[in-house]
Amino acid sequence: AALVRPQVAKLKPYTPGTTVSQAKAKYGLEHFVKLSSNENPLGTSPRALAALQSLGELQIYVDDDHHELRERLAAPHGLQAANVLVGHGSNDVVRTLFTALLVPGDEVVVADPTFSLFPKDAMLFDATAVKVPLRDGVHDLDAMLAAVTPKTKLVVVVDPNNPTATAVDRGAFERFARALPERVVLMIDQAYREYMPAGSVEGAAYAASRPATIVLRTMSKIYGFASLRFGYALGDAALLAYVERVRVPFGVSRPAAVAALAALDDDDFLRRSVANNEAGKALLYPAFERLGLHAYTTAANFVALEVRGTATEAYETLLARGIVTRSGDALGMPGRLRITIGTPEENALLLDALRSLAPAAA
Ligand code: PMP
Repeated sequence: AALVRPQVAKLKPYTPGTTVSQAKAKYGLEHFVKLSSNENPLGTSPRALAALQSLGELQIYVDDDHHELRERLAAPHGLQAANVLVGHGSNDVVRTLFTALLVPGDEVVVADPTFSLFPKDAMLFDATAVKVPLRDGVHDLDAMLAAVTPKTKLVVVVDPNNPTATAVDRGAFERFARALPERVVLMIDQAYREYMPAGSVEGAAYAASRPATIVLRTMSKIYGFASLRFGYALGDAALLAYVERVRVPFGVSRPAAVAALAALDDDDFLRRSVANNEAGKALLYPAFERLGLHAYTTAANFVALEVRGTATEAYETLLARGIVTRSGDALGMPGRLRITIGTPEENALLLDALRSLAPAAA
């Protein structure tokens, strides 16, 4: 510990959910349904996989400008390549942005609970995470605004939020963004944007209209790129030009970049993935209601489901039955599980397991 920065010594390691191999080792079951990391149950975009087949010349450094890809990502929003910052997943983009933006003593306003990366990475740069509790599972935008001080550098809105899957109201967000002082960076993490229903906040529109705004997007979720790693930010060109200076060179691999370009043309996979998710919601929500278990309205590809007893007990019971979820106890959401919406078969197995959990079930 004497060798590392005091802030680093204080950090807890990032703990992803139980992996299937850990679950197998623990319970000896052959098949596990992994509903713990909000991955795409349909796999990866077939167009991306096909593009990866014809990749050669991995000994050559990637063209790190990624101009064509950035242009392609910007175009649907009326933006230019200069409005796009690329990264090795959106986690990497956050690290790059924080490196460029934060100085010791800065305050970063976040919801609580929210995606743990934000408070953790803020701490890494000796900034203070100011945590504002959710209200009824949703970002309390009024309270977040009230938490802004002269030291506030950044306000982070995760929409839909992880772990609750909830989205903020579009009108409320509009008022919030207008009231936020111009000097405060507004960061909107829309990792699950493609799953959101019509009438949701269009983060990219703010990136185009409010200078100190950064929208985070990823291909990990809807395009099935969790392991390929590609994420990006949309924002003001002048601001991103500075941020670009601290980006790790060649951080986005050529496989990731080539696959991303191909996947962006895969409208069929996008449509199938959204349709599978909608069908999952239509199956699961009435079933949760019959079981007497509350779930927040999801705007994403996962649900935050209330359970009886502790979340960790419910999580262990489901794991023993071959279903891997995440305990809300580990996510600042006691009494609930975070569960990815799966294929129809996976959802049916989940419901079977939940019926065995919920004694008051009808
Ligand atoms: N933001 C949110 C809200 C997430 O839930 C996740 C996935 N855990 C990420 C970002 C991370 O995405 P990536 O794989 O692009 O780093």
